[in-house]
Amino acid sequence: MKIAVLGTGLMGAPLAMRLLSSDYEVLVWNRTPEKAEPLVAGGAELCETAAQAVAAADVIVLMLSDVRAIVEVLFSDETRQYLQGKTVIQMGTIEPNESRALNEEVEKQGGRYIEAPVLGSIPEAKKGELLLMAGGDTEVFTQCLPILRSFGHDPMLVGPVGQGAAMKLAMNQLIASLTTGFALSLGLVRREGVSVESFMDVLRNSALYAPTFDKKLDRMLRRDFSQPNFPLKHLDKDVKLFLKAASQHPLGLSGLKGIEQLLERGILEGMADEDYSAVYDVIDRET
Ligand code: NAP
Repeated sequence: MKIAVLGTGLMGAPLAMRLLSSDYEVLVWNRTPEKAEPLVAGGAELCETAAQAVAAADVIVLMLSDVRAIVEVLFSDETRQYLQGKTVIQMGTIEPNESRALNEEVEKQGGRYIEAPVLGSIPEAKKGELLLMAGGDTEVFTQCLPILRSFGHDPMLVGPVGQGAAMKLAMNQLIASLTTGFALSLGLVRREGVSVESFMDVLRNSALYAPTFDKKLDRMLRRDFSQPNFPLKHLDKDVKLFLKAASQHPLGLSGLKGIEQLLERGILEGMADEDYSAVYDVIDRET
């Protein structure tokens, strides 16, 4: 079976490596080809265009930034003609209705579609330990399961297309809320001269603790947000997607809109490509 990976950025590259180590024949394409070149050394075939990759593959794995990129790449006049009989696995973080629209379009072209967004970042992608939240038909999911198991031990079929995307946004809303909540408390503790160690001791022993606090504490204390696994601009994108999806329901969104403003300020101040924990710098500015 030939698998094309379209988008070999931070997450797409380790996914392609996982497929290579599972002995699949892998074709790769990236808008900026230099990022895909290291995969050739691992045995991947580098395609010059997305259309070439789609034409040659049985299964297409998409790990692109957002729905705009997906539409540009997958439904260009050159590429869409090759979707007949192909299976598309969409793994980026997009909004449920966006995913449903992609499903419709792929089916219109005679292909099959499943969404499989992931929780976890580059280290988990490299080890094949991502949490996969799939949405689609049971039959397509079952067909894709061996491939999905290269990325995570226990891929979950959440429900029909859209529900995997919704579950993923629910998780990423928690990343934004937990991180900004922690950053604000850490800021007050430091401003009041309370020992950070004592603060963390109480927090770790309480029901309020989340492991992500310890993962981000050191970066926040050192104000070092370089070499991100997950950049601030992507968290901002996901918060916006959550707001878009949630605004179709009677849900209170004012708290999350405040968080969106913090992330937007971080982007305006040049932190778009830093680790998302850089939101600490927006909340507790160095004086
Ligand atoms: P990334 O490193 O920025 O990669 C984005 C990819 O999309 C690159 O291959 C980029 O190509 C391509 N792209 C963007 N716009 C394009 C366009 N108009 N046409 C063609 N290609 C385009 O981001 P990433 O971290 O791998 O994230 C990919 C997706 O996974 C996002 O939806 C993100 O939210 C999600 N995700 C990320 C993480 C994480 O920890 N990083 C975890 C879970 C989910 P170029 O290289 O040419 O720019």
